[in-house]
Amino acid sequence: MRALTKEDRVFAMNQDALGALRTRLRGPVLAPGDAGYEESRTVWNAMIDRRPAAVARCLGIDDVIACVRFAREHELLLCIKGGGHNIAGLATADGALMLDMALMRGVWVDPRKRVAHAQAGCLLGDVDRETQVHGLAAVLGFVSLTGIAGLTLGGGFGYLTRRWGWTSDNVAGMDVVTADGRLLRASGEENADLFWGLRGGGGNFGVVTGIDYLLYPVGPEVVGGIVAWPASEAHKVLELYRTLAEQSPPELTLVALMRPAPPAPWLPKDMHGKPIVALLACYSGRPEEGEKLVAPIKSFGNPIGDVLVRRPYAQMQSLLDATQPKGRRYYWKSEYLPRIEPALCEKVIEHAARIRSPHSAVILFQIEGALNRLEDGHSPVGNRDARYVLNLAGSWEQASEDRANIDWAREAWNDMKSFSTGGTYINFLTADEGPERTAAALGTGLRRLAEVKARWDPQNVFCTNRNIAPG
Ligand SMILES: Cc1cc2nc3c(=O)[nH]c(=O)nc-3n(C[C@H](O)[C@H](O)[C@H](O)COP(=O)(O)OP(=O)(O)OC[C@H]3O[C@@H](n4cnc5c(N)ncnc54)[C@H](O)[C@@H]3O)c2cc1C
Repeated sequence: MRALTKEDRVFAMNQDALGALRTRLRGPVLAPGDAGYEESRTVWNAMIDRRPAAVARCLGIDDVIACVRFAREHELLLCIKGGGHNIAGLATADGALMLDMALMRGVWVDPRKRVAHAQAGCLLGDVDRETQVHGLAAVLGFVSLTGIAGLTLGGGFGYLTRRWGWTSDNVAGMDVVTADGRLLRASGEENADLFWGLRGGGGNFGVVTGIDYLLYPVGPEVVGGIVAWPASEAHKVLELYRTLAEQSPPELTLVALMRPAPPAPWLPKDMHGKPIVALLACYSGRPEEGEKLVAPIKSFGNPIGDVLVRRPYAQMQSLLDATQPKGRRYYWKSEYLPRIEPALCEKVIEHAARIRSPHSAVILFQIEGALNRLEDGHSPVGNRDARYVLNLAGSWEQASEDRANIDWAREAWNDMKSFSTGGTYINFLTADEGPERTAAALGTGLRRLAEVKARWDPQNVFCTNRNIAPG
């Protein structure tokens, strides 16, 4: 008989351990080969290909507590999957016990208090749909399939950010299972240091099981959508973007992008694959007002497509979903910008012309407004001087195209990073961006985060994230 290798022993030990965990949880525990394991272990970015030893699909807080305690007892590596959208693949790790939160997607709205309690496995669209029943909305991101947990724990921005700040500025409290396996409340009144750390410090302090979002009246209809022109119009369109964005009220969020035209039905067939420039707009106040404000965009030059119209807010929130499917290969480079300068627009045009894939884009998001009015130390997200986000968003199909697409994003970033505030968005960092980029994202908050980490997770049980060493 063949002697057992070290790997065999680990596996043999895990079989017993897995049996024990299975009896302890309400939700299923999946091992490699089990139905559902592949779906859980894979994440949005196909560049990431890791195999956890087991996946616990938690059904409730008691399951989460059991997993944290179990991982500690057995000295297992623990990883936590919310929506699995993190581009660096922080939700998954080889050989780990994965807590897959995807079965915890309940949302409870209190329309009188204007608060929604969302379980941590929710996607953005879950919260949007339930809150819109009451004509309310939380401050969330641009793609409805993104997980609320990772987005909120890293900051979060979207169409409502100009009015109300980062997503994490708009959280009333969180329920969290800490490293010692206790369920705690983190809010301004309870465990305030933990609450501060959770609003930008990522999954460093525990497993968040639920988030309470502040809600605001939005919709049901907004004025939103996209207008596109051929890339030959880019100089003029980006100048329009620059001037409109500077003047627009916080109800209007403007995004500029350049990319090869996708095969969308609203774009003429003969333009598919050809370079375009587009403006994405959402006015979240009264539609009548929004229509007046977007009129200069709709009447500008000769657009090749225009779907900037009145539409339900929840539809606006999912408008970009189809452009970002799970399973493609993605590589991003990103910076915060203090302003849009004409010289930056020149660089946008230059590097958009060098895009190597039909799916990649250069994107400028406008975030200026409420977030700039808070103190840097209000939450670990910091970066209160950020007014735009530059994203060089590489996206392609085949592994053989990795080099060309990664090089495109890196070269463009090298050429454009001088326009940065010096800060970057932690949730857009890729797997090859190390501690110096985490420091650029967290800035002065890093030291205080290390103190919070030392108090709540001194043994670094929660380490599969943008890790903060206990200090
Ligand atoms: C297509 C796309 C669009 C995006 N658009 C936006 C946008 O508009 N605005 C924006 O701000 N960001 C955006 N992002 C970035 C997004 O915020 C991050 O990718 C974020 O990590 C996604 O959250 P998730 O739950 O899906 O992450 P996951 O990949 O599941 O997890 C990311 C990290 O969070 C931790 N984590 C997850 N759940 C928990 C939990 N319950 N408790 C503790 N830690 C947890 C994980 O351990 C991991 O470290 C986008 C990303 C993609 C891929």
